Amino acid sequence: MNELQNKILALKKQRDCLILAHYYQPLDVQDVADAVGDSFALAKLAQSATQRSIIMCGVRFMAESAKILNPGKTVYLPAADAGCPMADTIGPDDVLALKKQYPEAAVVCYVNSSAAVKAVSDICCTSSSAEKVVRSLPNRQIIFVPDKNLGAYIAKHVPEKEIILYNGCCPIHDAVSVSDVEAAKKSYPGTTLLVHPECREEVSEKADYVGSTAGILAAARKGSSDAYVIGTENGVTDILSRELPQKRFFPLKPDFVCADMKKTTLADILACLEGNRTPIELPEAEMQGARKSLERMVAVD
Ligand code: SF4
Repeated sequence: MNELQNKILALKKQRDCLILAHYYQPLDVQDVADAVGDSFALAKLAQSATQRSIIMCGVRFMAESAKILNPGKTVYLPAADAGCPMADTIGPDDVLALKKQYPEAAVVCYVNSSAAVKAVSDICCTSSSAEKVVRSLPNRQIIFVPDKNLGAYIAKHVPEKEIILYNGCCPIHDAVSVSDVEAAKKSYPGTTLLVHPECREEVSEKADYVGSTAGILAAARKGSSDAYVIGTENGVTDILSRELPQKRFFPLKPDFVCADMKKTTLADILACLEGNRTPIELPEAEMQGARKSLERMVAVD
C-alpha cells in the first residue's frame, strides 16, 4: 500500500464508509475497496450496507443503483463523469414506445441503464442473472433493453420466450470481431477462450465458455487449463494475472479497455472521504420506480 492508499484506509474507518469497486476498476483502486465484484454483487452489497456512506468505484449507473437500493446512505461516485456509453443508448421514451408496440411483453432492463429507464421497466437483470430473470417471468414476450448482444445470447438459451431486442450495445465488447478471436488463437495456441455475453454472437460462438465477469473469473480459477484468453475488459485479465501467477492470461484484444471504468483515481476516493464531492441525488419518483425493478431482480437470485 502507498501513502495515499493508507490515508484512504484510515479515513474510511473514521468516516464509517464502505468502498465498493467493480472488477474493471484500476488495481490500485480495487486494493482500497472493502469488496470487489460485478454489478450484481455490488448492488447486493450496497443494499445490505450498514455504514453511513458508500463510495461506488465504477460508473454512474452503479452508484445510482446503490442509492436506489439503500436510499438512507450517502452514495458517492468518485469520478463524477464516469458514465456508460451503453446506458446512454436508451432513454425512458424508447422503453415506453416498445411497451406500446408490445403490450403483452414484460420489460427486462439490463442494470447498465439509467434510473429513469429502470423506472419504466418491469425488472432489472445483470449478465449473471439475465437468464434466471427472463425464465422467472410469466410473459412469453420479453422486451430486452438495451444490450442486443446479451439479449440475443439469452434468446438462444431461453427459446420458449420471444425476446424483442433493442439496438443498444457496449461499444467496448461489441468492437471485438471474429478476426480478433482468430488472431488471439494464432498468437496463443492451446489456450482456453472465455468470453462475456456483451460480445457479438459470432464471437461468443467461438468461445470455450461464455459468462458474466464473475463467471469468467470462476471459470479461470477452477479450470484445468494453464493458459486463458480473456474476452472481457482488461481489468479481469489484470486481476487473474496477479492472483494466479501459475497460469497465463492474455487479453482477447490489447485495447479491451473501458475508458469510463478507468477514470476513478485514488485522489477522487480521498476527495469523497474528505467531503469534497457531491453525493448522488435522484428524483424521488424515479427512485421508487427503479427500486421496484432492482428489488425484483435481487429477489430472483
Ligand atoms: S464496459 Fe461497456 S457496459 Fe461496462 S461500463 Fe464500460 S461501456 Fe458500459
